[in-house]
Amino acid sequence: MSRIASHLADLQLQIVKTCAKRRIFKHNVLFVAVSKRHPADSIREAYAAGHRDFGENQVQEALDKISQLSDLNINWHMIGVIQSRKCKDIAQHFDWVQSVDRLKVAQKLNQHREQDQSPLNVLIQVNLFGESQKAGVNAAECKKLAHEIMQLPRLKLRGLMALPPKQTDPQTQFQQFERIHSVYQELQAEYPQLDTLSMGMSGDYEPAILAGSTMIRLGTAIFGERD
Ligand SMILES: *Cc1c(COP(=O)(O)O)cnc(C)c1O
Repeated sequence: MSRIASHLADLQLQIVKTCAKRRIFKHNVLFVAVSKRHPADSIREAYAAGHRDFGENQVQEALDKISQLSDLNINWHMIGVIQSRKCKDIAQHFDWVQSVDRLKVAQKLNQHREQDQSPLNVLIQVNLFGESQKAGVNAAECKKLAHEIMQLPRLKLRGLMALPPKQTDPQTQFQQFERIHSVYQELQAEYPQLDTLSMGMSGDYEPAILAGSTMIRLGTAIFGERD
């Protein structure tokens, strides 16, 4: 077994155990492999081990990999900051955009999603802890943006993505994730079709799952340290 395949197997087991603690079914937690700054060959290795969802945060780097790996049936997730001039490429080459944080970006993605493609899956990136260095909207802005995205026919709003402040204490991590989960639940009360809460990375995916995450994004834990 390759190193990447064995990391994936270990993580799958760890995720099953974590889900069992809350009596969640593991298939309700999708695990996105964040391949940014790792080569296409590493993605091929994870794919050979059965992995299908990959996340990238730089458009040009992602486009290069998408073309090198066009023989594979990958679900590509955009998880990075979005510049509006990149919206056309993003809309046409990704399956999910997790980092939508303003109407202009949503409108451009909607405008450029081709008619022969299925509607683009999007998540609103929330920033509930007032971190000005990070992208994302607060709870009130999130409701407004959700309403606006619902009017855009080429986008399919699936839920929220969050990147909370880095913490080392699992209890503090859990409390932050619970707060994000409650904003998600409020939005879901209004839009019952929402089914995705993307939160949790290599260092904190366990408390994220325990607090109700349905999608975790793991890079380092699978591929090792980035340069
Ligand atoms: C890089 C990145 C991740 C993965 O981080 P790791 O700590 O390597 O698991 C997850 N989400 C976003 C938005 C990222 O930019």
